[in-house]
Amino acid sequence: MTISQDLFARAQQSIPGGVNSPVRAFNGVGGTPLFITSAQGPFTFDADGNRYIDYVGSWGPMIMGHNHPAIKQAVLEAVENGLSYGAPTEAEILMAEKVKELVPSIEKVRMVSSGTEATMSAIRLARGFTGRDKILKFEGCYHGHADSLLVKAGSGALTMGVPNSPGIPEDFAKHTLTVSFNNLDEVKAIFAKYADEIACIIVEPVAGNMNCIPPIPGFLEGLREVCDEYKSVLIFDEVMTGFRVALGGAQAYYNIIPDLTCLGKVIGGGMPVGAFGGKTQIMDYIAPVGPVYQAGTLSGNPIAMAAGLKALELLSVEGLHAKLEAKSKAICEGFEAAAKAAGIALTTNYAGGMYGFFFTDQDKVTTYEQATQCDLERFKKFFHLMLEEGVYLAPSAFEAGFVCSEHSEQEITDTIAAAQRAFAKL
Ligand code: PMP
Repeated sequence: MTISQDLFARAQQSIPGGVNSPVRAFNGVGGTPLFITSAQGPFTFDADGNRYIDYVGSWGPMIMGHNHPAIKQAVLEAVENGLSYGAPTEAEILMAEKVKELVPSIEKVRMVSSGTEATMSAIRLARGFTGRDKILKFEGCYHGHADSLLVKAGSGALTMGVPNSPGIPEDFAKHTLTVSFNNLDEVKAIFAKYADEIACIIVEPVAGNMNCIPPIPGFLEGLREVCDEYKSVLIFDEVMTGFRVALGGAQAYYNIIPDLTCLGKVIGGGMPVGAFGGKTQIMDYIAPVGPVYQAGTLSGNPIAMAAGLKALELLSVEGLHAKLEAKSKAICEGFEAAAKAAGIALTTNYAGGMYGFFFTDQDKVTTYEQATQCDLERFKKFFHLMLEEGVYLAPSAFEAGFVCSEHSEQEITDTIAAAQRAFAKL
């Protein structure tokens, strides 16, 4: 028995499923989750003393690699002054100013403590601002686990085959309309039907919770036009894509301006942080200036602000995102070539610092339906073979992969060589 197996058995006695977030349990791939003891740069170490090249990166936050010395130092310095005050600090202003500088569509921003809080609050704000109840989301997109958003959700819910969770009243779910990602005709049809009842569209501008599916040309542009026509709020959920696909997020990469943006993961440098922001006209609709209530005891926590600010400062370096994209591209091209040589059907997608690969003979995957039709058994085998090779991929065929600034050419080459050997054994 490995130490991870031992810990997993023990964890299950006290924690539901042995984990504090479902996808960590390896439900999608079977076997025992790794119990992590430390992580440094591009590597993660488990309780059995194994080292892995890590493409999970805490599910996205570790864009500068694990335990970056400058981020660690900023946290240590902030800790000297106390852990939380529940009162305003200058660090919050610095954070807001930095976010506005990097994501110009954001004129005002509010900090929260998770991506779920960011999307949940943005939806409430959009509903309050428009006076409408219905929201539109896309099948396979995940926006956290707030009730209205856990309807046909992706990520852990999709992996486990329970897209509509019990515990969500039908009366809530009925206000969530769901259409196909990358299908503008369906969006137009549903707006034609519900016209001025739809408060907002919420979308992952690059879908990262049904593997990695970028928008097809014209899709995001079309969403912008529809929202303008029907006076609906366009919300980009950039919890995953923010500061990753490009410095200014997917909205900079694709040059589309949303009304509201949700941020998370990278913005906290590894601390529990999220944020939502956008046009002043809409943001000033929240309390204490406006009537829509939103709050948080630990929002803008000084330690989290210190970590996040340092992370944003480090990743603002010219050329960093081009390098991240070059790594995503190298992995995708390397995997495709290695799979082809082994006679395995595989296609890939990438955008900036996120990528995905699909076991399928389709040329390109652009829809949720295509993603779910891929060979999941093959993915499971590949995942475990890569783990044996010392490469830690996301333990689900429905998650994007993440590269970080600390993945060197050596790690990328080693990863592709590991994939070559794994494909040969499939
Ligand atoms: N939105 C997106 C696009 C996400 O990927 C996630 C988390 N994977 C969330 C929202 C929810 O964030 P959190 O887990 O921090 O609540």
